[in-house]
Amino acid sequence: MTVIWIDGAWHDETTATISVFDHGLLYGDGVFEGMRAYGGRVFRMDQHLDRFYDSARAIWLDIPMPKAELAAVTLEAVKRAGLDDAYLRHIVTRGRGDLGLDPRKCARPTLLLIVDKIRLWPEETYQKGLRVVTAGTPMPHREALSPRVKSLNYLSHILAKVEAIQASADEAIMLDPAGYVTEGSGQNLFIVKHGIVRTPPAWAGILKGVTRDAVIELARGAGLTVLEEPLNRYDIYTADEAFFTGTASEIAPIREVDGRMVGAGRMGAVTGDLRQRFRQLVRG
Ligand code: PMP
Repeated sequence: MTVIWIDGAWHDETTATISVFDHGLLYGDGVFEGMRAYGGRVFRMDQHLDRFYDSARAIWLDIPMPKAELAAVTLEAVKRAGLDDAYLRHIVTRGRGDLGLDPRKCARPTLLLIVDKIRLWPEETYQKGLRVVTAGTPMPHREALSPRVKSLNYLSHILAKVEAIQASADEAIMLDPAGYVTEGSGQNLFIVKHGIVRTPPAWAGILKGVTRDAVIELARGAGLTVLEEPLNRYDIYTADEAFFTGTASEIAPIREVDGRMVGAGRMGAVTGDLRQRFRQLVRG
C-alpha cells in the first residue's frame, strides 16, 4: 500500500496534506530524492541520502533531521508499505512562508516521504527499446541551477518530456546550452561503441545518478572500459548501443534516436548483459 510520512506523522493518501503557502509549491523551493526498494531492501540508500542532503545544502536548506534518523524513518516506511518493488520519494521544501520569495519567512522546512510503486514504460518497450528524440528545450546551465541539485524545478525536464510525447517518442535526450548531450528527462545516458562504454561526466551538467554509478561499477567489473567524457549527438547517432539508467527506469535500451536506428535497432549484447548484472545486484 501507499505510505506517506510528513514531518513525523504517518498518513495515507486521504490524510496527507501540505500548506498552499509551502514554498515548495509556490516557488519550487526544495529538493527531492527517488529511491527504490527491492524485496524490502533499499538499493544504495546511503548514496541517495548523501545526494539528498547535498542537494539541500547546495540551495542553503537544512534538512531538519539527522541523516541516520531519516534512514530509520525510510526503512520503517518501506516496512509499512509491504511492497516487493517500491519506489520512494523524499522531499524537503523551504516550508510554509508567505506569498513573497523571502525564505526567511519560512520558519521550518517541510520534510516528507512517499512510498508507492512506479513503472515508466511497459515491459514491451524495454524489450523493443525506446524511441527517443533530442529535445529543443536545453538543460539549465550548470552554473544557473546546477543539474547536480535534484531540485523541485523540473520544468525544463517536463518540457523536454512533452516534446518527446508530441513526437510520439518514449523519451527525450536533453542537450546543454552549448549543444553537448546531457541526459534524459529523468535518467542518465550511456552509449557503447566498439565495446567501450561512454557516458557524460558529472561535471558537464547532469544529475550524478546512483544507478549510473552502479552501472559504471558493473561494467568495469565485467572487464569493460568506461569513459566519462562529453558526448555530442554524432556519438549517439553512430553508437552500437545506447541505454538510459535511473532509479525508476532501471536500464532502458534505446533503439532509435531522432529517426536514426541505434546499432541493429534492438537490445545490444552489452546492454543485455548489464541489465542482467543490474537485476542480480538490486535483488541480491
Ligand atoms: N537524471 C535526472 C534528471 C533524474 O531525475 C534522474 C532520476 N533521479 C536520473 C538522472 C537518474 O538518477 P538515479 O539513478 O539516481 O535515479
